Amino acid sequence: MKVKQGMKDAAMRIGIDLGGTKIEALAIDKDGKELLRYRVPTPREDYEGTIAAMVGLVQRIEKETGAVGTVGAGIPGSVSSRTGLVKNANSTWLNGMPFDRDLSAAMGREVRVANDANCLAVSEATDGAAAGKRVVFAVIVGTGCGGGVALNGQVHAGINGVGGEWGHNPLPWASPEEYPGPVCYCGKRGCLEMWISGTGVARDFLEVTGRAQSGPEIMAACEAGVPDAVAAVERLEDRLARALAHVINILDPDVFVFGGGLSKVERIYREVPKRLSRYVFGGETETPLLQAKFGDSSGVRGAAWLWPNLD
Ligand SMILES: [Zn+2]
Repeated sequence: MKVKQGMKDAAMRIGIDLGGTKIEALAIDKDGKELLRYRVPTPREDYEGTIAAMVGLVQRIEKETGAVGTVGAGIPGSVSSRTGLVKNANSTWLNGMPFDRDLSAAMGREVRVANDANCLAVSEATDGAAAGKRVVFAVIVGTGCGGGVALNGQVHAGINGVGGEWGHNPLPWASPEEYPGPVCYCGKRGCLEMWISGTGVARDFLEVTGRAQSGPEIMAACEAGVPDAVAAVERLEDRLARALAHVINILDPDVFVFGGGLSKVERIYREVPKRLSRYVFGGETETPLLQAKFGDSSGVRGAAWLWPNLD
């Protein structure tokens, strides 16, 4: 649809982050300064309700500010360029739906929709930890694991819409104990998400020690110096180094930016780079690993920055 009218006068950017439990909307001015934000619970399993909640957030922001905004949205999935339909969303009620078109129609303007990891990459490349970097690979490790690519500050979704979908590549240089690896919900075995994630660390820890602990509990125990937990985090760091080495061998990004729960674990920025050179072809690695500057807000900021220019 052609909805340029109204946007010509846009005075702010609105970003919406559609998460599994909450939807957050944020308005930023032309310089990226935060104006206000709202969040509501995600109407799970309810497609129409999800769209209505997002429209409601935009209406509240525009009423409160008295201004009109461009709208970008980050979703936990991607829009297929071939079919125009959402795929690979773990908020499964979006899959198979023309979400960007429906959202645009409901909001009376063109809404740009991108994968949430791509939004993180865009946010950090625009005014975050990777500001001004040309090729940014964003990694989100929380309960799951995902990746996204920004080139010159813009989303690189790719011809298949899966650019950066690194979490479903297999763990590289798997040892006999690691191969073929656990079954992933995507149908394959040994995906990175099954290893490099809160749930993956918990499973690995249980298999090795026989004790059930959550990912955050293992991280806290590691910090306290508990040997089993330190060993589990070292295994995680080595797997992460192998996985990032693959990205370097293919894309050689200027920087890796980390979001999600694991991004708050300080030792990874120290320990993973030491291991990278063991795996990267030629052994030379300068690639910085940085924590996302805007933390949990990077996704919603990146959604707003899907409209880099207001005029
Ligand atoms: Zn998978």
